[in-house]
Amino acid sequence: MSLNQTNWTEATQAVEAAQSIIIVTHVSPDGDAIGSALGLYNMLRQQDKQVTVAVDEGLPDFLAFLPNATDIQPSLTSGTWDLMISTDSSDEPRTGKCGAYARAHSATIINLDHHATNTGFGDIYLVNPEAVSAAEVVFDWWGEAGYALTREVAMPLLTGLVTDTLGFRTSNVKPRTLEIAHDLMALGASLTEVTARALESRPYQVVTVWKQSLPSVMLVNGVISANITIADQVGVEDPDRMEYGLVGWLREVNEAMIAVVFTEEKPDEIKLSLRSKRGYDVSQVALALGGGGHKQASGATVKGTLQEVRERVLPLLYEAVKQGELEIV
Ligand code: 5GP
Ligand code: MN
Repeated sequence: MSLNQTNWTEATQAVEAAQSIIIVTHVSPDGDAIGSALGLYNMLRQQDKQVTVAVDEGLPDFLAFLPNATDIQPSLTSGTWDLMISTDSSDEPRTGKCGAYARAHSATIINLDHHATNTGFGDIYLVNPEAVSAAEVVFDWWGEAGYALTREVAMPLLTGLVTDTLGFRTSNVKPRTLEIAHDLMALGASLTEVTARALESRPYQVVTVWKQSLPSVMLVNGVISANITIADQVGVEDPDRMEYGLVGWLREVNEAMIAVVFTEEKPDEIKLSLRSKRGYDVSQVALALGGGGHKQASGATVKGTLQEVRERVLPLLYEAVKQGELEIV
């Protein structure tokens, strides 16, 4: 059973009662993590709250175009808050060191998310697994609260919507998703700018890593896989983000139902990026491995060497392909 609970009124009352608010999101932040967090930040600042926003390692360069993005702090070492808002994070470890610090120093916690794998941490839930992005949950919240949105809020929210739907192309996109995008654009958020900067952008260095990685590509039983080894990443400044869409590109291969990239973060620690075609669920595999995510886009970090992790994970993915085929028939 997945958590599906949106306590709008309670959450709004908690905001209204709070003077100081800390916003945190998930480690290795993507467009929706930063978009939802900054959308919240820009709105709450306009209400004269004392607001802090933080995520481990700080803002990724490609999202620096968003209004007030440079206010995002890379760590937390002091402070106490009346309220913490966690966004786009399915579980506590996902919020990293900033999340742990904020939890220990906040009186009340709002858990705002759209992952079906949300573990139900915190005091007040704004968790809607039907939402395509955490940014959509923020949009709905402010609608319920009757707060007027500005361009500064709309721009990051549109970024969350666009990045988590891969430009409105995932199977969970509904007419309402486009209505929300319409409303955000009407407030002055630029769809072309968001798309160009957040979706169609990668440093050349990433392509040099892909050049090293591509010989490892294999297609077996409907699962396409690739490795990014430590050696492939030599000379790379920001190794955290070297996958940068490789798995999404592999998923487009006609013969593949599931795509996986194994990134060697340490010799005995492998980050998995999982994607699937419509009807195939990778979130259960990610969850079983201690990670999480959505049916069509999930991830986890697994202990073991590249070879050990491949041997453990690939059979689970072959099984997920079979399971998907049974359900489609
Ligand atoms: P990515 O492959 O882009 O790193 O991750 C895809 C999606 O999987 C993320 O948006 C997030 O929902 C989920 N995800 C990735 N890694 C983890 C993890 O370690 N733990 C959890 N709970 N979710 C993850
Ligand atoms: Mn998200």
